[in-house]
Amino acid sequence: MILKGMKRRWAGTLAVALLVSACLLLRLFPAPAVSGSAYRTSGISEVPDTINVLMPDGSVRTMEMDEYLKGVVPSEVSASWPYDSLAAQAIAARCYASTANRHPDKGANVCTTTHCQVWRAAHDPRTDTAVDSTHKVAARYNGEIISAFYFGHCDGNTRNSESVWGSYVPYCRSVSCPCGFTTMWGHGVGMCQEGAKVLAQSGWGYRDILKHYYTGVEVGGTETTAVDWYFAEGTTRPEFVTYLCIANPNGVSADVTINYLVEGGGNQSVPYTIGPNSRLTVDAAKDIGTGKDFSIRVTSANNVGIVAERPMYFNYKGTWSGGSDTVGTPYPGTTWYFAEGTTRPDFATYLCLGNPNNQEAQVTVTYFKGDGNTQQQAVNVSPLSRLTVPVNDVLGTTDDVSHDFAARLEVTNGVGIIAERPMYFNYQGGWSGGHDAMGAPSPRTTWYFAEGTTRQNFATFLCLANPSDSEAAVTVTYMVAGGGNRDIAYVVNPHSRLTIDVSSALGGGKDFSCRVASTNDVGIIAERPMYFNYGGAWSGGHDAVGAPYPKTSWYFAEGTTRPNFATFLCLGNPTDKQASVLVTYMRGDGITQQQPATVPPLSRTTICVNDVLGTADDAAHDTAMIVEVTNGVGIVAERPMYFNYMGAWTGGTDAVGY
Ligand SMILES: [Zn+2]
Ligand SMILES: [Zn+2]
Repeated sequence: MILKGMKRRWAGTLAVALLVSACLLLRLFPAPAVSGSAYRTSGISEVPDTINVLMPDGSVRTMEMDEYLKGVVPSEVSASWPYDSLAAQAIAARCYASTANRHPDKGANVCTTTHCQVWRAAHDPRTDTAVDSTHKVAARYNGEIISAFYFGHCDGNTRNSESVWGSYVPYCRSVSCPCGFTTMWGHGVGMCQEGAKVLAQSGWGYRDILKHYYTGVEVGGTETTAVDWYFAEGTTRPEFVTYLCIANPNGVSADVTINYLVEGGGNQSVPYTIGPNSRLTVDAAKDIGTGKDFSIRVTSANNVGIVAERPMYFNYKGTWSGGSDTVGTPYPGTTWYFAEGTTRPDFATYLCLGNPNNQEAQVTVTYFKGDGNTQQQAVNVSPLSRLTVPVNDVLGTTDDVSHDFAARLEVTNGVGIIAERPMYFNYQGGWSGGHDAMGAPSPRTTWYFAEGTTRQNFATFLCLANPSDSEAAVTVTYMVAGGGNRDIAYVVNPHSRLTIDVSSALGGGKDFSCRVASTNDVGIIAERPMYFNYGGAWSGGHDAVGAPYPKTSWYFAEGTTRPNFATFLCLGNPTDKQASVLVTYMRGDGITQQQPATVPPLSRTTICVNDVLGTADDAAHDTAMIVEVTNGVGIVAERPMYFNYMGAWTGGTDAVGY
């Protein structure tokens, strides 16, 4: 392939330019799939999570695949090109990287030079978004990821691989190209970068661009639903109601087993069947009785993909009423992070740790306090059980920044756990409630939120945690409904957290989505707590950990438009291309209903689900939801709900979809 870095470096020197084709032959033609005379498939069907990169100093660095690609794409093409050409380039580079094993003697898949793909530490927000929005998306031929060759530009037609390399590659066929050049720059096999730009300018989506240049490929991600779901929290104590909502978005029934892992013993398994395109609501107290604290594992026994959420309603200590909701996690993990947590007066923060394994988990909890100090605590979680850590007992209670904290949980003996953080509060002595967050498995350099508002009776915060030893430089891009987007830079100190009051940053009366990006490669965790008095009557709070990347499909198991419930969908679009969306409502009466929507570029759209489904007290007004983008643009989807539960416990919840 030809690389832009090479092109720029050589552009000034005619004598060197004459050598270009010879250099390309030497540098770029020992490509993996065509080194022999016979075509070989890649044998790789999934995009690896990480890649080993041979750095300029000779060391080998293991990077997350997308972090690596964020350094490749702006080196390959101009970040000012149209979105779909950046997305096509991101996917081609991902395919190349997924199948590359170019430096086996050094234990590296790729180097950072023109020998493989140029990588530089510098990022650009537009190419970052193109990489994030196509997370795990690859081009496959017969189910295997292709060796996605690409080059600068062609002369109106790309080339058959055998006419250049003597070796037949079925997806590298000569096709016509609108790049507008009359000379060839590069080997001519695969995607013409300038042609991809022209096609994107004329309105082609990245999937069609890739299918044009790589004959017979399919372009798609691997993420759909999951067969296992885990929760750390759940309780049937007095004045708590715990539900499980499980959605089955497939055309066949799912045979589901719910395992309750009870603190203190008494584990139980209960089987359920969920019909096609339907949802199931389970009241945990009916399965295991009252007075129990538990973790949960939901398994689809017949491997039909499902999505599981856990709404809870409560009257905490008989005084702070509200609700919380959390989408489960498909994987236990050995690290979990939280950006939010406080033990100031009128706040109670807990950590719930679930252990679905047969072996005890040994865990170190590190509290990164708002005053820059850290504190550690060692705890053990029994096999097939759960543990609750009351953080107020650990850190004490005082009204100062040293009682705000972020947290890292590290398992020291390799046993995978699940970690959640329930909080209960009486916000500013007036809005009582609670919320809950599933931890983030790792720090990242970008986080996305679809929801956020500075309307009257709402307070929206961003909590940013930096668990590393170096300062994080962070830019928050606020994408405001109706216009007025803003970028604001912040610094998050090492081993610390920053709390941003968004109303002081944006002013009042704004609905927004946002993108939180570390601009100096230091990984962070981002959460968004919100407190509110919805409609001047239903007070409470909710909290969401950001979405790690935009996607083209989002699933929600919960949603209801029964009386005293208001359900919304917030859709955020961090790209500069309009997203076309189809929302499918899978109602509790087995009927599905669809609704088209659009999300403007760098903006957000709010759907009031009550307006779509109407309001009545029956199963037809409970709904699971699928949000699908039909034109390939990655978006972020959240579902805020506000309620007056049983006419007594008011509050709200929010969930980032799966
Ligand atoms: Zn190399
Ligand atoms: Zn071309």
